[in-house]
Amino acid sequence: MENHSKNDAQHWIRQEIRDLSAYHVADASGMIKLDAMENPYVWPGELRQQWTGLLAQTDVNRYPDPSGFQLKQQLRQVMNIPADMEIMLGNGSDEIIQIIALALSGNGRSILSVDPGFVMYKMIATFCGLKYIGVPLREEDFSLDLPAILQAMDQHQPAVVFLAYPNNPTGNLFDEQQVIEVIEAAPGLVVIDEAYAPFTDDTFMHRLGQYDNLVVMRTVSKMGLAGLRLGFLAGPADWLNEFEKLRLPYNINTLTQLSAHLAMEHHAVFDEQTARIREQRTVVNTALTQMQGLTVYPSDANFILVRTADGQAKRIHAELKDKGILIKLLHGSTPMLKDCLRITIGTEEENQQLIASLATLTQ
Ligand SMILES: *Cc1c(COP(=O)(O)O)cnc(C)c1O
Repeated sequence: MENHSKNDAQHWIRQEIRDLSAYHVADASGMIKLDAMENPYVWPGELRQQWTGLLAQTDVNRYPDPSGFQLKQQLRQVMNIPADMEIMLGNGSDEIIQIIALALSGNGRSILSVDPGFVMYKMIATFCGLKYIGVPLREEDFSLDLPAILQAMDQHQPAVVFLAYPNNPTGNLFDEQQVIEVIEAAPGLVVIDEAYAPFTDDTFMHRLGQYDNLVVMRTVSKMGLAGLRLGFLAGPADWLNEFEKLRLPYNINTLTQLSAHLAMEHHAVFDEQTARIREQRTVVNTALTQMQGLTVYPSDANFILVRTADGQAKRIHAELKDKGILIKLLHGSTPMLKDCLRITIGTEEENQQLIASLATLTQ
């Protein structure tokens, strides 16, 4: 018997949890916030009025609709979810990743994704006691290394493969045919994470049903509703009905259901905002490309990955912060992102300030 007191956290907390550091969110008060892929535009006055009117009539003494029925109907329509597919709602898509991991965890099970990839896949794998396999992308252009993925799937037999499409933090879309090859060769579930769907024309949504092991995950966070915390999973009933058993009752609160439903009714407002972000992405990309010492990677998302000259990323990140602009420092997170920064597209004015400040820091 080990010697420990009954209050000893060091004894009871699993080693892999003690080894984690909590997800860090930088303080951005008073800054131009270009670090977290948020939509910089707020709701127009008319919609805001309609919203507060609805909220004023809403009672919160009762639990929310447990299934979110009306919201799901609305999402099915607006997001073109095929009629024969099931939908599960999550408190952000992060919660959906956690539900999937919980459902698939167990003796020696693993999650496979790519590196660099979305950090929550690995973190949640650890929370839920799964092994995590991150297969390196190709260094030149962050495309899939298909032979390496096929080999790793064969070797580790992962219960689930997550692919973000477009990928975060690199911003690119993977080759569609290669993704299909991954789906066809995977031993288990494949989740296509379309968090950045509003910023690209490509999707796997219409392929649902073509493969028994394909599900598509989306979120309303990046389209402009990050504060509501709402994501969803669409896919075959065989998978979704099982995941549904792990969803905590009432995970989508009344205010989120009501607000998201209203936003979906007025999705043209958000389509217009995300179209502006896409235009601004081109503006920022062009400006950054002209700066000496920066390598700019193509993006189908609402952010741009750049690589600075050798050893400059940390300095540029800190000096931008001094000038009141917060971006994401990726250098140090994984070897392939050496000297890398990630810049979220903001409003036109914010982007112009970023471009002006960055131009003075890169030479
Ligand atoms: C932001 C992001 C998410 C998480 O979105 P939430 O719905 O806000 O939890 C999921 N996947 C990827 C790839 C993301 O970039």
